[in-house]
Order: sequence, then structure tokens, then C-alpha cells
Amino acid sequence: MSVARMAARAWVGVVAMAAVGCATNPVTGRRELSLISESQEIQMGQQYAVEVRQSTGLVPDSALQQYVRGIGLRLAKASERPNLPWSFDVVDDPAINAFALPGGSIFVTRGILAYMQNEAELATVLGHEIGHVTAKHSVQQMSRAQLAQGLLGVGSILSSDVAAVAGIASQGLGVLFLKYGRDAETQADDFGFKYSLGDNYDVRAMRTMFEMLGRVSASGGGGKLPQWLSTHPDPENRVAKTDQRLAGITADLSKSKLNRDPFVRHLDGLVYGENPRQGFFVGERFNHPDLAFRFDFPAGWKTQNQPSAVVGVSPNQDGMIALSIPGPEAPEQALGKFLGQQGIVTVTTSRSAVNGFPAAQAEFQAQTQSGVVAGRIAFLAYGGTTYQLLGYATAAAAPGYQGAFQQSIQSFNRLTDPAALARQPSRIRLVRLTRDLTVDEFHRQYPSVVPVSAVAFLNGVGAGSDVLKAGGWAKRVQ
Ligand SMILES: [Zn+2]
Repeated sequence: MSVARMAARAWVGVVAMAAVGCATNPVTGRRELSLISESQEIQMGQQYAVEVRQSTGLVPDSALQQYVRGIGLRLAKASERPNLPWSFDVVDDPAINAFALPGGSIFVTRGILAYMQNEAELATVLGHEIGHVTAKHSVQQMSRAQLAQGLLGVGSILSSDVAAVAGIASQGLGVLFLKYGRDAETQADDFGFKYSLGDNYDVRAMRTMFEMLGRVSASGGGGKLPQWLSTHPDPENRVAKTDQRLAGITADLSKSKLNRDPFVRHLDGLVYGENPRQGFFVGERFNHPDLAFRFDFPAGWKTQNQPSAVVGVSPNQDGMIALSIPGPEAPEQALGKFLGQQGIVTVTTSRSAVNGFPAAQAEFQAQTQSGVVAGRIAFLAYGGTTYQLLGYATAAAAPGYQGAFQQSIQSFNRLTDPAALARQPSRIRLVRLTRDLTVDEFHRQYPSVVPVSAVAFLNGVGAGSDVLKAGGWAKRVQ
């Protein structure tokens, strides 16, 4: 959960704009049925981009942002749709991911940057995402998603919370827009290759990029499948296809650019892995040092710290608890707004404080897309912020969870543990190598807080016995 970025996602509006028309695809030249005009495409993409920036947050490093934007813009300006309002942002997300929204809003995560070795790799990934936009995969996907999910934008706080639960299974709302199908992905790789080559990048970097993804994937990605992999074809096939692309070009790649040093230098100090300042779990207890609160989930529940909420799901997956920051209203007003939504039936309300913090609570029932649910909601004021604590379950299961909901709500309290308050993230640090070192030697000489296998992957090689060359920068994690 990121600070000040947890405003409930407003999904309204995104849906309201559908209109049927026919447009020429700028890449294929074919006329095709499109639900959305270009200006609508831009508008919907930008609206959602604002949501992404707010809910996930951007890496607070203007030099890095400017660097990535510069590369992206150069590639995009040379594409088939140079006049779109292109934007390129690095989001503060440890997942290995990159994605494109309709209209040209492109995002890469700090997680994927950490594993890249040079600017050319970055260019192929940005080019791939640009390709999803120029070929209109993104807008087609969003149109399809709209047709399939006509109710997506009902604008109800509750329905977005329900979706947040679904997000646990589907790894987030973004997936809705990210699954393009194999042909679209191959086409996007073609574009990534073409755009990078056109900007004189050493496109062999596309191969090393897929090799890296393959390694991280094979290793289980530290228990977390990189999102770019879960939504994209098998890296091995992509390596083979890239070899075909490489065989088909006449350009002399020995004169092309990798730009390793300028790229890697921008990674020095970049946060690696989860950032505990945005909250971390110790068992079922969630600690948030920056906001100085703690909150307990019931024992045995599956928990996850998402950008917009911290959520827990019961072992039977029939109940959930979510903590979020809904908006600026005081508890009483926020509760009134929640209970005032269509389909919500108030069972009881109370104004009893939680650990001394002013609060407004209610038991409720609600008609949602996924059936009738029942639960308890509390809004409480702490440190100038209003928190929303929501527990709900299917109507059948709800009576069994009321005690757990109440207990979790009552667990919300000030975080006072000095160690928890002081916890800092790990960061990538660069070491200039004065002689060749194997990763094992490097790891002994410059220890990291991650295993040697991760150090190897971060440095673009596969194992501890592989050599890191003198004269280059090597990455460690401290
Ligand atoms: Zn893709």
C-alpha cells in the first residue's frame, strides 16, 4: 500500500465512452470495426494512466524518469502513430512488468529495469509496448473488455472492492488489458525489434532480454511469476523468433548501440524488491511505517499488500478483509456515502471508537455482481487520514466471519515498534569491476542481501560460475 496513493480507483467514465465506428488500423492499413475513435482512445487511456500513476505511484527519481521518457519518445516519434500524446513512466512496482494503455501511455516497472543490462534491452521492451499501441491491440482489448464487463464502471465503492478481491487471483486489474493473445504478442515483438533497429540499437538485446525472462521464470522468480511472463508467450519461443528476425537483417550491428553504462548508472540506488516503507507483513500483522499504523488479519488468511489496498482472503475464499484509504471525508461522511450506494442495505450502525480513534461502523448487506454479500465496514480517523476497514463474505458464510471482521477492525492501532518504524528498503548498488570476477567471487567480495543466483540474474548471467567482465559495472543489492 503506497502512501497517499490509495484513493479508490474511479472506474467510472472509462466505460461511458463506447461508440461504434470503423477506423483504419495505421499499422495493418486494414479498415476494421472499432468501438472507439482515436480521441476516445486517447481519453480512456489517459484517464486510466492517471489511475495507474496514483495507485501504484512513480519511482521518485526524475533523472531516471526523464531518461526512460527520452528513449521511449524517440522510438514512438518514429512509429506509425507519431502524434499520439505518448508518455513513458517508471512505476514503483517490484514486479517484472511493462504495459501499454490505449492512446500511448506506457509503463515499465522498477522491477523489470533492475534485471536489464543496457539501454538496448529497454528499447526493445518499450518498442514492444509501443507496438501494442500502434497496432491498436490495447484499444481493441479495452473495447473487448468493455463489452465483456459492461458493469465495470458502475462507480460503486463496493464493486471496486469486489474487484480488488478478484485482483488477488488475476494479479490485478491490469491483466484485463494485458492479455493480447499470441499473434498480437508476436506482432508487438516484431515492432519492438523494428523500432529499436530503426533507432540504431543493437537488437541482439531483444534476445538477452528474453533469456533473462526465461531464467527468472525457470527459477520461479523468487516465488513470484513475473507479470510480463504470465501475460506473454514463452520466452524460449520468443528467443527463437528473435533469432529469425536477426537472421533477416542486413544492418551491421557492430556499429549499433547497447549503451550499457548510461543505463546501468541510472539504476544505482533504485529500490529492489518490496518497499517496506509502503507496508510489510510479519505473519498476519501488517505494519505501515510511513503511516505509522498496524493491522491484524485473521490467522491463516492469504494476505497481499496491493497498491490501492491491503487485502486478506479467507482460506475458503468466501470472505475478505480490505484496508484502504477511500478519500478525504471524515468517518461519519464516508460511512454515509458508502451506505448510500444503490443495492446496499444497512443492518446496524455504530459510532464506537476503535482504540481511541474516532470511527463510524456499520453492518450491511449488498447486492453485487457476484451475488449477495454481507459484512462490516468501519471508517476511522487516524493521523489526519480516514481509513476504510471492510470485511465481507458471501451471504451464506458471513455469519461465521462477523467475529473475525470485528477483531480485525479492533486490531487497527498506532505502530510504535521502533524497528518496524525504521525499516528501510534494499537498493541496487553498483560496483566498478577492476578485474574479471565470477559472480561467486563478486558475491563473496561484495555481499548482497539476495542469494547469489539472484545476483547472477541481475547481472545478466545464469550462474555463480559465470564471469563478470573487468571495466563494467556490476549490480549488488544492499
Ligand atoms: Zn505484450
